[in-house]
Parts: sequence; structure tokens; C-alpha cells
Amino acid sequence: MISVEEALDKVLSYVEVLEPERKPILDCLGQVLAEDVYSDIDIPPLDNSAMNGYALRAEDTRSASESSPRYLVVVGYVAAGSMPAQEVKPGTAIRIMTGAPLPEGADTVVRFEDTDEVKRKSSGDDLSQIGILCQAERGSNVRGRGEDIAKGNLILKKGNLLRPQEIGVLASLGHSTALIIRRPVVAILATGDELIGVDQPLAPGKIHDSNTYTIAAEVSRYGGIPKILGIGRDSVRSLTEKINKGLDADMLITSGGVSKGDYDIVKDVLTEHGEVGFWTVCMKPGKPLAFGVIKKAEGGEKKVPHLGLPGNPVSSMVTFEQFARPAILKMMGKKILAKPVIRAIIEDDVVDTDGRRLFVRVSVTKHGGQYYASVTGPQGSGILTSMVKANGLAVIPENSEGVKAGHLVEVQMLDWGEG
Ligand code: AMP
Ligand code: MG
Repeated sequence: MISVEEALDKVLSYVEVLEPERKPILDCLGQVLAEDVYSDIDIPPLDNSAMNGYALRAEDTRSASESSPRYLVVVGYVAAGSMPAQEVKPGTAIRIMTGAPLPEGADTVVRFEDTDEVKRKSSGDDLSQIGILCQAERGSNVRGRGEDIAKGNLILKKGNLLRPQEIGVLASLGHSTALIIRRPVVAILATGDELIGVDQPLAPGKIHDSNTYTIAAEVSRYGGIPKILGIGRDSVRSLTEKINKGLDADMLITSGGVSKGDYDIVKDVLTEHGEVGFWTVCMKPGKPLAFGVIKKAEGGEKKVPHLGLPGNPVSSMVTFEQFARPAILKMMGKKILAKPVIRAIIEDDVVDTDGRRLFVRVSVTKHGGQYYASVTGPQGSGILTSMVKANGLAVIPENSEGVKAGHLVEVQMLDWGEG
């Protein structure tokens, strides 16, 4: 039996970061940048106003107050998107809107609220003069040229994750595309004579194939592109035919056919195509796991890593989370491969009879600054609704005999602050 960590290390040692590709920036969300991005412009490109108000010289506001305003001659107006036509000379001001370039001669903007503009407007004044009601500090309400991004600087680094803010920065730099690590194509194969398609009516002894859909949804959720191969029957011919269709993918994930008695067929097929190992991982659910590499369709040295998950719907999800998800993230060039872990008080007793690491489906809530984890009912590895009710997996260490209600446990959060 190998530990979860050993199994993960082995899986990760077989997958490589994929090659980069250039994509429109909106297609890059959640992906990893594969180039350094320097700026060839200043942002903002010019000093400009942070407020609607009056551009002026700070020294012209000296000792101004509500009771003793300083009056300036208004010599012009400048809106965002246009250039000022006049210069601010001593004793003058230019009415300015947010984002408009600061006129030459001005060093400060005083916002409307600190002028007598409203009073003047209500008495029908033509605004050829303005009263300033406070002493302004030089530079106030002015956004300096290049204060956000200075020309020539390294703005985004190779390896950065592209979130909405990075996509926005690329747009402000005038980049419509970015070089990113491409998404992995993950081929998904369900195996089992008992399985029928989601659109087929149930027949005696049959169940709908749900793993294909859970796994495909997980692959998409974490940034991969699922390639659904369908259902392979428990025969060499059927499995071979299906697996052959997945050999152009970056990874193959199968579910089912890895438990004792069952795996001979999968094993035969996979050994034919490459190498395969069957591991007993010290975890529950999800003990039997297959891992190997299969020769790529086009031949040569290229190999497709293959992960064989157990068939039980919960086992396949939990093993996906522990092994497939980190592999997909590594291929995408990501650095953080683990789910966030919190410490929570477990609200139910959990018994661990055979010393394996337990992944208990829990619903985590927060009261008074403390997290609480409540077990989501029966924990059978076929009970997929135990995952539906869960937002985390409490991790009960191996060889612990379990944990009593009221104790602190670590919980891997499957969903964090969303929904
Ligand atoms: P296996 O690992 O093939 O022995 O399957 C273990 C259990 O998981 C069996 O009860 C199967 O019916 C169930 N199972 C296997 N594959 C799927 C699937 N694709 N969708 C839903 N249940 C499955
Ligand atoms: Mg089976």
C-alpha cells in the first residue's frame, strides 16, 4: 500500500507542463502566462484629473475658505477624451472632468464641491469666474502620468495566473492576445457492462453512466478540455477500440475496472499499449487506482499518461480531486496544486476501522469565527448525493482510529466562497 503523497508524486512525475499558444485575451482567463509582458506606454499616458472640478495652481488657493473664497477667472473647459485648448496662468482655472488631461500650468484639481459652482449655477451665473472654498494641496486630485504603469517596465511575468485584473492590464497595454500554456485535452472513458448512456432508458441490471459526466465536468472546472470516449464494455475489444480514440489526448482518465477480479481486462489492454501499474493507495474511498502511460497515436516516444479511477462514483470523484486535478493543473503550468485546507470542528464521530486515510464528505459552515464540519449522511462510496451535500472533504489521518465529535480536523475545501 502506498500513501496518498507517494501516489501523487508518481502521477505528477509523469506529466509535463504543456507548450504555449497565443490566444485572444478573453480566452486566457484562469490560464498561465508563458511570456514576460513589458509596457511600451505610460498608463495613464498624461497627468489627468481624478475628479470633476477645476484645474488650477495650488498657490492660487492659499488661505481660501468658505468664508473667504479665492476667485479665479475660468478660461476654458476640458472633457475626458479631449486635450485642453488653454493654459492655466496665475489667477485662472479650467473646468475639468474626470480623466481629462491636466492643462499646462495647472498642478492641482479642486472638486466642484469645494467651489461655489452650485450656488453660481442656481443664480444663473455664466461661470466665467469661480470661487474656491478651500486651500488645496499641490497635486491633489491629479493622477500622474505613468503612476499605474511606467513605459519600459516588466508588468506581468511568465508564470503569472491570468485573472480578470491581469486580462484588464493586458487590455490597457493594448494587447489583444497573450501567450499562455495551453489547456490539456483529457480523454474520459467509463467502463462496465452495467452502464448505459444518459439518454438511454434504464433496463434491468443497468445504471446510467454518471462518472463520464462528473469527470468531464471536473476536467472543465479545472481548465482542461474533456474528450468523451463513451462507455467501454468489459471486453478487450471494446476497451481497445475506445482507448485507441483517446490516444491523441494529453491524458486519459478511465473509471471502473480497477478493482480485484475486474482489472485483468483493463490491465491486458493497457499493457498492450504501454505500461500500467495498479496501486493500493492508503485512502478511503478510492483504494484501487491504476496509473500508467500509453503510447501516443502518432507513435514515436510520446506517451499519454493514464489514470484509472475506481468505478464507484464517490471514489472516482475523490481520487480525481487528489490525483487528476493536480496533474491537470501541472500541465497548465500552475504552481498551486492543492485545494485550500481549513481547520474545522467536526460535528459527528468518525470511525476509521482499517487505518486508511479517510476523506469524509462534510458540509462546512462558519459561526462566530469558527468553522464547523458536519458529515453529509451515509458515506458509501456509491452515494453520490453525499458529494452533492458537501463543500469539503474532511481528512482523517491514517492509523488514527477516527475522530470524535468536537475535535479539530483538516478539511480540503472543494468549493470556497462561491455559489
Ligand atoms: P468497478 O470499479 O468497475 O468495479 O465499479 C464499482 C462500482 O461503481 C459498480 O457498482 C459500478 O456499477 C459503479 N460504476 C462504475 N462505473 C460507473 C459509471 N461510469 N457511472 C456510475 N457508476 C459506475
Ligand atoms: Mg466495472
